[in-house]
Amino acid sequence: MAAPEPVFRRVAVIGLGLIGGSLASAMRKYRLAGTVVGFDRKAEDAALGVELGVIDEAAGSLEQAVQGSDLIVLAVPVRATRAVLEQIQPFLAEDAVLTDVGSTKSSFIADVEAVFGTLPANVIPGHPIAGSEKSGIRAANPELFAHHKVILTPADSAIPSGVSRLTALWEGTGATVLTMSVAYHDEVLAATSHLPHLIAFSLVDTLAGEDENMDIFRYAAGGFRDFTRIAASDPVMWHDIFLSNRDAVLRVIDHFTQDLDQLRSAIAAGDGATLLRVFSRAKAAREHFSKMLSGQAYVTNNSDKQVTFLMQPGGSVRGDIRVPGDKSMSHRSIMLGALAEGITEVKGFLEGEDSLATLQAFRDMGVTIEGPEDGFVRIHGVGMNGLQAPRGPLYLGNSGTAMRLFAGLLAAQPFDSELSGDTSLSKRPMGRVADPLRAMGAVIDTAEGGRPPLKIRGGQHLTGIHYDMPVASAQVKSCLLLAGLYAEGVTSVTEPAPTRDHTERMLQGFGYHVHHDGATASVTGGGKLTGGAIDVPADISSAAFFLVAASIAPDSDLTLRHVGMNPTRVGVINILRQMGADIEVLEERVIGGEPVADLRVRSASLKGIDIPEDQVPLAIDEFPVLFIAAACAEGRTVLRGAEELRVKESDRIQVMADGLAALGVETTVTPDGIIIDGGQTIGGGTIESHEDHRISMSFAVASLRANGPIRINDCANVATSFPGFVELAKQTGIQISTEGVQ
Ligand code: NAP
Repeated sequence: MAAPEPVFRRVAVIGLGLIGGSLASAMRKYRLAGTVVGFDRKAEDAALGVELGVIDEAAGSLEQAVQGSDLIVLAVPVRATRAVLEQIQPFLAEDAVLTDVGSTKSSFIADVEAVFGTLPANVIPGHPIAGSEKSGIRAANPELFAHHKVILTPADSAIPSGVSRLTALWEGTGATVLTMSVAYHDEVLAATSHLPHLIAFSLVDTLAGEDENMDIFRYAAGGFRDFTRIAASDPVMWHDIFLSNRDAVLRVIDHFTQDLDQLRSAIAAGDGATLLRVFSRAKAAREHFSKMLSGQAYVTNNSDKQVTFLMQPGGSVRGDIRVPGDKSMSHRSIMLGALAEGITEVKGFLEGEDSLATLQAFRDMGVTIEGPEDGFVRIHGVGMNGLQAPRGPLYLGNSGTAMRLFAGLLAAQPFDSELSGDTSLSKRPMGRVADPLRAMGAVIDTAEGGRPPLKIRGGQHLTGIHYDMPVASAQVKSCLLLAGLYAEGVTSVTEPAPTRDHTERMLQGFGYHVHHDGATASVTGGGKLTGGAIDVPADISSAAFFLVAASIAPDSDLTLRHVGMNPTRVGVINILRQMGADIEVLEERVIGGEPVADLRVRSASLKGIDIPEDQVPLAIDEFPVLFIAAACAEGRTVLRGAEELRVKESDRIQVMADGLAALGVETTVTPDGIIIDGGQTIGGGTIESHEDHRISMSFAVASLRANGPIRINDCANVATSFPGFVELAKQTGIQISTEGVQ
């Protein structure tokens, strides 16, 4: 952290209290200044500063402190600023940088302008977001700013070299420096710091005035202590802050009292629904505070994290496991539950990032959702027309399903909305839903090439259409059927090949009639949904990795429990069985309209096949791992009619071919598929997963038949669809370890 050359030659710190003293001692400790000179109105504090090693020299006067300094830091209470500025102005060198640490910034600018007649270019206001209830030089701590933020609010005319040197100085103390406008700073701080302090002061004061105050404080639990800790802050400093940030603070107090009033009325009226909605939205917001701060709603931007899978070759796969809940159904249960009348209780909800993003998006639209807790979620439906306008864009993380289904739902709402996603989602085509929605009367803007973000104009009147899908896609079909719930007349969709029908099944489960006529599904707008119970089956797409693993690894015997066996999803089982896999379907049952079974898989000698084209849409997400099965099979496997694979989270045909090549397995890529000659030796090597979770997990499975270690890069996104994959893989015998943060 130590800077090789001091950033400033001589720094004058005026006001040797907690903040001034801490900055002075950090500058000395990390050699950020040649000499640190301190001045305080109490001469004994300056002398103590030298004694404690906080400063190099104590100045006897402001003149002595300022003259010859190339940086002057005002660290006095905000209300003392103007008087100090008046006194130091005559002695400031022309090229010296002048900064402050005050908690409000408009007032500092006003003071500077009052004294200098203008805002000089070498004045760069600052505010460290660090501190404590302590004050005075004895509280000085050189580590106070480490891992904290410092906000600089330079004017456009500020000297760039001054801004960069000041930034370097603060960074040298271990802080992160942000710059923003003065007005924005004061608004943000009014909300995040000033209002909470005001509430703490006021609450403690109110309670201290109650008759039973001794008892109140005697029995005060930890929560009260935590919540009111900041009421022990310096009253003088805070009175300064409120007076100098008056306007911004008044605005946020008004907003807060309005919301508090609303809670008061809800309590008075026995309106539990409002209380629950506000509390659960607040709880979720608090839990995901840091993520929300970085504009990422509920989800973590996993691509920022580096996770690598390290695979040792060989092993067999045994045990009795249940993989996480089906992602498609988890998404839809939240969507339909939110629009239903009454309460919907969901068990087995997949707590993956994609479905959590969907859940948070509905919270942002005013729906009360309790949980998730161990896969249990309770949704308080608001009815077909009960959604409220979200305060900002709805962030859907990595989820293409969520974005396409939301597009249908939101096209018909009375409010405008914007749908955004992470880098990978932002590259995926949305024109395929936007175009037919426009034909229904929706107004949707996309970024270039039909890509996210989607800007959806509210208040449009939708009319039912008949749509012949050019490509078989459950997401497009679902999107149009959801829009159709709001459209006038009938909306019907014909698919060129069967695709997943979870939306249709779940709509029926919620009491909404879906008409089927061969390959056409249709709904009539204007109906309603009724809430109920949903038990989400284990995801067959997640089970697929283990179906292939136990098939290709010798001496394997694995049971997978409660797997969703929707006929539009069982392509992977049909294909593997045709390749000779030994998969037994046990205990078939129907739960909530969806077929479910336990699956027992044992090692088998697989053989290559021509994959029947009618099975392709039924196994679309499972192809990466099926390619691994094909590489382990005897003979040639040919896939055709799968161009859809090229626009998934990655170009799954090319990325799998490249990965197999890295392990020494040659394949032939075709425009709509791949040809894999099985039986080649699978070597060790490094795989680039292109942040595609299914690619990562597929190569983890390949290690069972490899003859050397495999390293798989960029695996953080595995958590998007399969939380707990690594643990479960280890438990069954796959030799996996990770490098980096999970
Ligand atoms: P502090 O511990 O009370 O220190 C202020 C120091 O300035 C005291 O030593 C005070 O002396 C001295 N002083 C007051 N008037 C002066 C004058 N006219 N000339 C010279 N020295 C004078 O307060 P602090 O917490 O360091 O706060 C200083 C500034 O930092 C404030 O503007 C505050 O808004 C800002 N800030 C504080 C925090 C926090 O959490 N504390 C966080 C960020 C920013 P006396 O002891 O004689 O009064």
